[in-house]
Amino acid sequence: MQRTIHVIGAGVSGLAAAVKLANAGHRVHLHEATPLAGGRCRSFYDAATDLTIDNGNHLLLSGNHHALAYARSIGTEAGLQGPKAAEFAFVDLETQKRWMVRLNRGPIPFWIFRNSRRVPGTRAFDYLALMPLLRAKNSERIDQRIACKGTLYERLVRPLLLAALNIEPPEGSAGLAGAIVRETLLAGGGACRPLVARDGLSAVLVEPAIALLKSKGATVTFEHELHKISTNGDRVAALTFGNDTVPVGADDVVIFAVPAKQATTLLPGLKAPTEFSSILNAHFRVETAMKIPPILGVVNGLVEWIFPFPHRLSVTISGADRLMNEPRDELARAIWQEVCAATGVQGNLPPWQIVRERRATFAATPEQDALRPGPVTALNNLFLAGDWTATGLPSTIEGSIRSGDRAADCVFKMS
Ligand SMILES: Cc1cc2nc3c(=O)[nH]c(=O)nc-3n(C[C@H](O)[C@H](O)[C@H](O)COP(=O)(O)OP(=O)(O)OC[C@H]3O[C@@H](n4cnc5c(N)ncnc54)[C@H](O)[C@@H]3O)c2cc1C
Repeated sequence: MQRTIHVIGAGVSGLAAAVKLANAGHRVHLHEATPLAGGRCRSFYDAATDLTIDNGNHLLLSGNHHALAYARSIGTEAGLQGPKAAEFAFVDLETQKRWMVRLNRGPIPFWIFRNSRRVPGTRAFDYLALMPLLRAKNSERIDQRIACKGTLYERLVRPLLLAALNIEPPEGSAGLAGAIVRETLLAGGGACRPLVARDGLSAVLVEPAIALLKSKGATVTFEHELHKISTNGDRVAALTFGNDTVPVGADDVVIFAVPAKQATTLLPGLKAPTEFSSILNAHFRVETAMKIPPILGVVNGLVEWIFPFPHRLSVTISGADRLMNEPRDELARAIWQEVCAATGVQGNLPPWQIVRERRATFAATPEQDALRPGPVTALNNLFLAGDWTATGLPSTIEGSIRSGDRAADCVFKMS
């Protein structure tokens, strides 16, 4: 049956649901509160650097199957670019030591037996220490399953888990960390190739989806914030956007793909995460092309990851709550100094921008993870999507797109 579906929120979860449903022939109306789509995954023109930059560097991995399938469905899979193999360059700013972690393609981890491929100062046996994460309960913290110290932890496990969970690993959910290890290191190099949207998040993951939706006859309405739902028994009967009230017919469906806070406001009584964690990104305009690995991990610094883009070097610092109120120019200077030390780039502070996303992700602790709802609500024609719903992953594009796909599947299953 062809239904009318109202998708509320045009972040990647809402876009994924909308694209899947429109491709299946449903009439889709996408409503977005702001003037632009993309939510926490978007590009914008920045006057300080005179460049179009992303709100944050977003790293995907080749094993992010839902994200890649989504990109394929909107024709932009080739826009997710990275090295041919699962290679991660690192530098330790304290010792100036440099190394490259190079996973072999298949799931049997031959790389941990090769000095030239594993983390320097570690033995193959050390990697077995990660196994307890795979059997972790969702109620456990990472430091209850593994020792959060030692060379392997400092040089690989901490950077990986901090980036994935956006929280200092010891306090993070061991269940979510186990999911990350299962889908990355354990799946082998074929699943771990780092990928970024080289031409920008909006160009690769957002605008083509909007174009596809319009070509399928979907409507996309910006500055159309949902303020209230009206119910009739166990169904949503109307949606109120400012002065505009839209009836929801007997067979129509609504998908909330809004952040946790907005979802709980619209649907009182809904259980959802209440604590969030921030990410800081710094962007520096650079004129000349540099020989910098596509992704460079930094240990023992303020900086955690450096990504080269055309005309810019961009830095990610996760779990950055401590930096939210620091003076911006001091941060820019300190970060640039570390970028120079890590990359060998020289020169005075170039034009820069710092983007601080305070509510970048839900805080990936066991307690907050336990608050995540599934897609089904008490209302028969209302489903939930978003990175904060129970996807089994931390707040990530992959989790977000999985949640959008899952909400679409709930519609397909309706009689
Ligand atoms: C700085 C930063 C770096 C990140 N790095 C990575 C990374 O490296 N890798 C990775 O996988 N993930 C990363 N993430 C996480 C990733 O961006 C998010 O998981 C994902 O974008 C969330 O998408 P979403 O659709 O679930 O939610 P959102 O993007 O929050 O989308 C929700 C949308 O709903 C709209 N909305 C809200 N209320 C209403 C309303 N009442 N009516 C209509 N619309 C409404 C909002 O405006 C928004 O557009 C990062 C996030 C940030 C902020």
